Amino acid sequence: MLVHDTVGTGRTEAEVGQIRQSLQARYDELTAEYEQAVLQSQVLRLVEVGDTAGDDQADSGTKTAERDTAQSLLRTILDRRAQYEHALARLEEGTYGFCEGCTSPIPVERLEIFPSATTCVSCKQTRERRAA
Ligand SMILES: [Zn+2]
Repeated sequence: MLVHDTVGTGRTEAEVGQIRQSLQARYDELTAEYEQAVLQSQVLRLVEVGDTAGDDQADSGTKTAERDTAQSLLRTILDRRAQYEHALARLEEGTYGFCEGCTSPIPVERLEIFPSATTCVSCKQTRERRAA
C-alpha cells in the first residue's frame, strides 16, 4: 500500500506536477509578453529615428514618455517572470507554499490568486514597509 508523504510539504507528486505546470505556463506567457513588448519598443525606436526632424519640444516629450512607458513595461514583465522562476525553484526545493519570512504555510487561497507568492500577506507587508 502506497502512503502519501505527509511530512514536509504534504503535497503529492501529482499536486506538485500540477502546480509546476501552471507556474510554467504563466512563465511562458510572460516570456511571450516580454518578446512582444521588446518588438513594440523596437518599433517605437524605429519610428523615432525616422521621425525626429522637425519635432517641436512637445513631440519629443511625448516620445520620451512613450519610451519610458515601454521600458517600465519591460521591467515589470521581467520582474514578474523572475517571481515565477523563483516560485518554480522553490517548488523543486520543496519549499513552495511556505513563507520565506516566517516559514508558515501560505494560505491556499492566496496561492490561487498569486501562484508566484513566496511570502504570506503579513511578511509581504513587512517587506514593503521596509522597502518604502
Ligand atoms: Zn510570513
